[in-house]
Amino acid sequence: MRLAFLLFLSLILSPASALERVVLQMNWKHQFQFAGYYAAIEKGYFRDSGFDVVLRELSEGQSPVDLVLAGEADFGIAASELVLYRGEGKPVVALAAIAQHSPLVLLVNRRKITNVEALSGSRIMLAPHETELFAYLRREGITKYTSVTHSFDPDDLISGRVDALSGYVTDEPFVLRQRGFPYLAFSPSAAGINFYGDTLFTTEDTVHKSRARVRAFRAAAIKGWSYAMAHPDEMVDLILRQYSTRHSRAHLSYEADELRRLIQPDLVEIGQQSASRWQQIAQTYTELGMLPPLSPQSLNGLVFEAEESRLPSWFAYALGGGALLVLVGAGAALYFARLNQRLTGEIVSRRVFESALRESEERYRQLAEQSKDVIWILDLASMRFTYVSPSVEKARGFTAEEVINQPLADALTPESHARVTSLVDEHVARIAAGDMTALSAMTEVDQPHKTDGVMSSEIVASFLLDEQGKPKSVLGVARDISERRRVEAELRSVNDELRRQLEANEKLQAALREQAIRDSLTGCFNRRYLDETLERELWRSRREGNPLSLVFLDLDHFKRINDTYGHQAGDQALTILAKALKADIRHEDVLCRYGGEEFVILMPRMPLAKAAERAENWRRQVAGIRIPFGNYELSFTASAGVAAYPDHGAMPDELTHAADMALYVAKNEGRNRVVVASPGLDEAL
Ligand code: GH3
Ligand code: MG
Ligand code: MG
Repeated sequence: MRLAFLLFLSLILSPASALERVVLQMNWKHQFQFAGYYAAIEKGYFRDSGFDVVLRELSEGQSPVDLVLAGEADFGIAASELVLYRGEGKPVVALAAIAQHSPLVLLVNRRKITNVEALSGSRIMLAPHETELFAYLRREGITKYTSVTHSFDPDDLISGRVDALSGYVTDEPFVLRQRGFPYLAFSPSAAGINFYGDTLFTTEDTVHKSRARVRAFRAAAIKGWSYAMAHPDEMVDLILRQYSTRHSRAHLSYEADELRRLIQPDLVEIGQQSASRWQQIAQTYTELGMLPPLSPQSLNGLVFEAEESRLPSWFAYALGGGALLVLVGAGAALYFARLNQRLTGEIVSRRVFESALRESEERYRQLAEQSKDVIWILDLASMRFTYVSPSVEKARGFTAEEVINQPLADALTPESHARVTSLVDEHVARIAAGDMTALSAMTEVDQPHKTDGVMSSEIVASFLLDEQGKPKSVLGVARDISERRRVEAELRSVNDELRRQLEANEKLQAALREQAIRDSLTGCFNRRYLDETLERELWRSRREGNPLSLVFLDLDHFKRINDTYGHQAGDQALTILAKALKADIRHEDVLCRYGGEEFVILMPRMPLAKAAERAENWRRQVAGIRIPFGNYELSFTASAGVAAYPDHGAMPDELTHAADMALYVAKNEGRNRVVVASPGLDEAL
């Protein structure tokens, strides 16, 4: 019952005009590689041509050509192996060469293998239909290697299970790059093997059945490819939505970009193929012993005639008349028409290509020639410049031609030359070791000017690699930084001068600070300093619970010394006394010249009794001083008053007053003595 309903449903839903159902056998699984066919389905190009197309993925180990030949599919996608089948007499017909170049490459670990020769004796993963890779290895003279069945798993290369594996430049490098694997891709084109990539094909049978249907199918597919090339993002969306999520969006976009390079839709009409190029491909196979020598005719029929021959209307009448002459003439006309058509096609695509090339060359030339910076290319083998932009003349006085004819050593000062050559060596070694950060370099160099002096340049350079991945040349830009250097040097000298001035200032300030607190004759601290220090030290003593003593010391009858021996002798006596006291105080004690010939010694953490002992000591010392003066010896005495915290007060004034009083008592009691302050002293006076 349900089946009947479904049948009914399918009947009413089927289109009015029945579409021809055809199977298109892909040569791999769904991915951007088949975007043109998805577009032709999605946009209705196949449907409009009367086809209902079923896309079939390829399973590992299958050959799309075998499947199509066996009648399991109507159309297929294969590559240059088509010529091998044709050479063996198999009736394959190439309809459209979608990819103008083969995507097949050999991927290796850059850390282990840096040139193709190193593949000799190694383990290589190859699929049987990847004939151009076999041809490549043979041409490179690599005959001894172990061919490992392809697992299509890049991990086998990453883990080192194999030394090389075949892959599509449009596909595997993305995975390897994502995994951070240091790969290198060897392309058969390096050995002059330039095969077609994905090619739409069918069999002679299908063509014979209806040439017009095959033409329509081909046209719809190419239209699909044009659409896909113009709308890659839309195709990526479509693939992810409808066909496969096997690859990420980023992966599919990468594939789209790379595939575009192989299809070259801007330069070549999509699908274009030529018998002569197929002939060349066959010849390459023959040279490599993969195909017996072929006669030119044996490839006849391989290339599908995409265009209907446009014959003049009179041709049919002439043919009807059976006029041999006309027939020959028409044959020639047809031949030339085709030849002309083909040549025109080639000329047009060549012109498009040449003009694109010219435009791009012109753009770069203008960029290089109008830049103020000097742009250059240095060949690493000869260490000579192969290109120098004209701006060099303005910068260094030499013309570009002169620089190109000079050895590198002449373009740099000896110091810069030595540095640059060792920098180049270092980078080349790092690149060989797989360090791709070494591909660019920056440095500063000095370059002699033709007429005067030296100019300084900042260099930004990139190493360019050859097909083997070895550094071949350096592309660099030199920017004149002489002015910047001059300004920097000026700034440095101004800075130095400023620093010198600052240091002098600081010294002066320190001296001034000293002057403000010291007495110039004796070098002792002055009264101002004592006032500040006494307050601070007393506060500290109170907080820490320590005693503090103060000794006032005044020379006796000093006026007389001045009067007798003169003021200078008095000064000398003061200096000698200060020196003696300085030598006999502790590090933390503070010696001040309090007045003319009056000194104060502040002693933190010193109890009264001990201070009195010390004062007595100084008094004795002073009395022992003898200063030679002509035939005489000058001598003098001193009196001292001693007071202390906490004994005589807790405030500065209380202490100085107490010590002063004690000194006063000492003077009164006959001088040359030490008196300790006592509470009753004030009243005693
Ligand atoms: P006494 O203290 O024992 O009472 O007698 P005195 O003669 O020392 O008296 P007083 O302290 O009143 O006088 C201080 C004298 O010290 C005055 C001055 O002649 C002398 N004097 C003060 N400052 C200086 C100085 O810088 N150099 C010299 N040479 N003498 C000074
Ligand atoms: Mg005195
Ligand atoms: Mg005095």
